[in-house]
Amino acid sequence: MKPHFLLLMLLTMTMLGNCSQNNTSEQKQDLNLANLDTTVAPGADFYQYATGGWQKANPIPDEYSRYGTFDKLREENQKQIKELIEELSKKNNAFGSNAQKVSDLYKMGIDSVKLNAEGAAPIRPFLEEIAAANTEKEIIRLIAKIGKYASNPFFGFYVGPDDKNSSMNIAQLAQSGIGLGDREYYLADDEHSKMLRDEYRKLINTQFKNAGYSDADAAKASSVVMKIETELAESHITKEMRRLPELNYHKYLVSELNEKVAPFDWAYYLEEVGAANADSINVSQVEPVRRAIQLIHTEPIDHIKDYLSWKVINSAANFLSDEFVNANFEFYGKKMSGSKELRPRWKRSIDAVNSALGEAVGQLYVEKYFPPQAKDRMLQLVENLKTSLGERIDNLEWMSDTTKSKAHEKLAAFIVKIGYPDKWKDYTPLEIKEDSYWANMMRAAEYEYNDMIKDLNKPVDKTKWYMTPQTVNAYYNPSSNEICFPAGILQPPFFYMNGDDAINYGGIGVVIGHEMTHGFDDQGRKFDKEGNLTDWWTPTDASRFDERAKVLVDFYDNIVVIDTVHANGTFTLGENIADQGGLQIAYNAFLKTEQAKQNKKIDGFTPAQRFFLSYALLWAGNVRDEEILRLTKIDPHSLGKWRVNGALPHIDAWYEAFDIKETDPMYVPKEQRVAIW
Ligand SMILES: [Zn+2]
Repeated sequence: MKPHFLLLMLLTMTMLGNCSQNNTSEQKQDLNLANLDTTVAPGADFYQYATGGWQKANPIPDEYSRYGTFDKLREENQKQIKELIEELSKKNNAFGSNAQKVSDLYKMGIDSVKLNAEGAAPIRPFLEEIAAANTEKEIIRLIAKIGKYASNPFFGFYVGPDDKNSSMNIAQLAQSGIGLGDREYYLADDEHSKMLRDEYRKLINTQFKNAGYSDADAAKASSVVMKIETELAESHITKEMRRLPELNYHKYLVSELNEKVAPFDWAYYLEEVGAANADSINVSQVEPVRRAIQLIHTEPIDHIKDYLSWKVINSAANFLSDEFVNANFEFYGKKMSGSKELRPRWKRSIDAVNSALGEAVGQLYVEKYFPPQAKDRMLQLVENLKTSLGERIDNLEWMSDTTKSKAHEKLAAFIVKIGYPDKWKDYTPLEIKEDSYWANMMRAAEYEYNDMIKDLNKPVDKTKWYMTPQTVNAYYNPSSNEICFPAGILQPPFFYMNGDDAINYGGIGVVIGHEMTHGFDDQGRKFDKEGNLTDWWTPTDASRFDERAKVLVDFYDNIVVIDTVHANGTFTLGENIADQGGLQIAYNAFLKTEQAKQNKKIDGFTPAQRFFLSYALLWAGNVRDEEILRLTKIDPHSLGKWRVNGALPHIDAWYEAFDIKETDPMYVPKEQRVAIW
């Protein structure tokens, strides 16, 4: 299983930056009441009430498809990283030092003259290598190579913890190979999906021409790519099914693959991906891999070469000349997400540096921006939240003592990571030099790949971080039963070093509770304290859990996100359970604070009110219509508005805090509310 993030990371290829400030630590930090819209009653639309002022004051900049508190923090964070890099660039950095790598890669990203003069030249050797292939064996070698440097064609290979033996890393195969992010885009017959398919075909056509294909060849290649990707999409299992870990685990001996999956030159493939020493492999989704191999066997080799070329072109597009970048933005930015303007070059370049040299940047970042005392305060908060979740487990009416004691064991075993890793990645093997921007990104991909492949058949390193310190996000990883809060998120409006408890428990407190609850959501509950996929529930408790979860599925299925499009209660279930659990656990912990006991108003609001206002403000933001549609299709999290208006109606304390009455539109009768954790 892969880690669950607090928020979807936007855009492929690049990890978005993060931010943090300690220059505000001297100032009084507080809720900004201008963020509210008090013309709306809290019980009518709490999201609008608590964040309407923010939305009004922060219209979406043209370069964004969504602009919320997270994005605003990331924006500030990018500025800080830009300053750091510019300082580095003024120095005489030794070749091979992290400083040289970071500053040179950034410079290449903003060097429009060089990028535009090169055109398609940086990808030409790779495309020529594909064009020269004549046999299936050569195709297999290329599939492995493209997976390493660009994106996965047909299916994906990676090394990661064995779900049923979580202390060991094993080889894994998974469905992959489509460029639209989700199978439904290829199969749905609504107008929006059809429009996106047409536009995607146009993108492929344009990029092939940019890469030097004739009009006729580009037209033919775009049809071929659409055909192959559509067939792959048809074979893919749905995103709802991918959330069920037991359906995504099929561990075979390598010697069984021909029989259990499909006849294929597995020995050669595994040698080429660097896994010749694998004796077993988890095929996460069998049918899609089988179908992909059938396609490899049966499609004309020229078709396969067009498809492989597309994987290279599409992955490289953002690191090439403006014609490639602009075409890419026209589709993925404008058509798919609704952005109006390409982000400035310097921001795109920072993203690339964050992606290629994330921990090298992170190390500089925490030295300058992360105050050590923030870590101490966070550790205390995490401890208080753990105590609170323990109490809530004890008080659950629907769970037996047998399952409760297992749940306590799991809670006690949480690994907690705060701020930045104890040991930093060593970037010595990664060379950043002045051949081309794309060549550097390929070497960065190779570095990451080698870093992953070296763990094959080795014990899992539980100190490893799955996010860079500068990231504005957080995660729970079921395989290691760990929660992680990078430095980037430990700042307002999540974490106020000098703030009152109400706003910190309603902010970062809920985030901590959210990540903890992932260990016990519909997916996380299937993993034990060691991170193994194993059933530690009594059958009665499991079915009681499912009954409660079903209430949430139905509740969210009923939500209309735009026009006639509904939220997807099944796909977002884990995140909705985590939001709710996070609120319950953090509120329960908050009640123990002096502030909650004294119950004194600040700026006219009770501590309980401040708690819920602080929570709502985490999700303040504006979203374009196109992005609402896209996120509803690909994001396991509810939209910001529904992380507030969907979660709070199930929290009794929220009704009390704002005196919500039966006649209020958001009111849900007590017997229809559900509390799982
Ligand atoms: Zn989450």
